[in-house]
Amino acid sequence: MLDKDCLFCKIIRGEIPSAKVYEDEKMLVFKDIEPKAKVHLLAIPKNHFKLLSEMDEDRAEDLKYILKKIPQIAKENGLENGYRLIINQGDDAGQTVFHLHVHILGGEVLGW
Ligand code: AMP
Ligand code: ZN
Repeated sequence: MLDKDCLFCKIIRGEIPSAKVYEDEKMLVFKDIEPKAKVHLLAIPKNHFKLLSEMDEDRAEDLKYILKKIPQIAKENGLENGYRLIINQGDDAGQTVFHLHVHILGGEVLGW
């Protein structure tokens, strides 16, 4: 289910270090290396999955699992005051890593 060359699959396998804040059998959450807000986390499924446009039933289950967990993880990371979730899809959105990830941004008042 993991891709040999994918950066985030390498993080899941522990081949590239990351600042993990949550992990279970289905998902991993770690700090973004170039934070765009005071708190910037990335939540990823442990199944390799390139693009939101590849959505199917199994991938929807993975994404649902992540979305259900995020409120608890956000709270544990000091985001009681609110946060923003972003999924970049494709070139126009500036997607650079092709393993589905949900950005969790907060820790300050966010501009749009
Ligand atoms: P996107 O532009 O939506 O594809 O987001 C990819 C994100 O991954 C960017 O915000 C990068 O800063 C982040 N990123 C890239 N490499 C790493 C890494 N090794 N550890 C943590 N975050 C990373
Ligand atoms: Zn991957």
